[in-house]
Amino acid sequence: MGRTGYGGFKVLDKDLLELGIKFHGHRCPAMPIGLRAGELAMGKLGVKRSQDKELFCFMEIGPAHATMCFGDGVQTATGCTYGKGNIERLNYGKNAITLIDVKGRKAVRVVVNPEFQKKALASTFVQMRKEGIAPQDIDPAIVDPLIENVLKQPDDVLFKVSDVFDYDMKPKKGTFEYYECERCGEVVFSYGMRIKDGKLVCITCSE
Ligand SMILES: [Zn+2]
Ligand SMILES: [Zn+2]
Repeated sequence: MGRTGYGGFKVLDKDLLELGIKFHGHRCPAMPIGLRAGELAMGKLGVKRSQDKELFCFMEIGPAHATMCFGDGVQTATGCTYGKGNIERLNYGKNAITLIDVKGRKAVRVVVNPEFQKKALASTFVQMRKEGIAPQDIDPAIVDPLIENVLKQPDDVLFKVSDVFDYDMKPKKGTFEYYECERCGEVVFSYGMRIKDGKLVCITCSE
């Protein structure tokens, strides 16, 4: 995931960009900002993409707003994903992450620079999104220069970054213990079991 020179600036690895677009589903500028945020945070911590649960990410986006696409870029770059359970969405309505090096007990917070974000929110792309046009239906001639811009901007134009700070995190251990719901017969891991009318059932069957 190295960076190569581009017009005098550092840029993101093109493979990572393509992976992000494939995973995310469309071309937009917010997903690549998430890629850059993740790369920057990993660089500050001196860590590599999470293969299992080496990293944990608190992501401040959500519950529903423009630029949440950022979150898919963060997952692509850091390897902190919902499937691995090493990411949590805080729903603060901000394009910011705190990335934690679990073993090294260090963390860093990266937030999109308000100056950059305000300009981005005033773009034609966002205007068209506001009017209800799907991102995949917006002309690449409008989207691609915005993506290129995200790729070539220096870190400090795009982000504000905290110092690296101590962070002690006790990771949750994934359980292998499972049951069969006595009503629907489906396999349920232990956190999802409830007792209803003396029967061991899943959450859906307990309601
Ligand atoms: Zn998007
Ligand atoms: Zn059930």
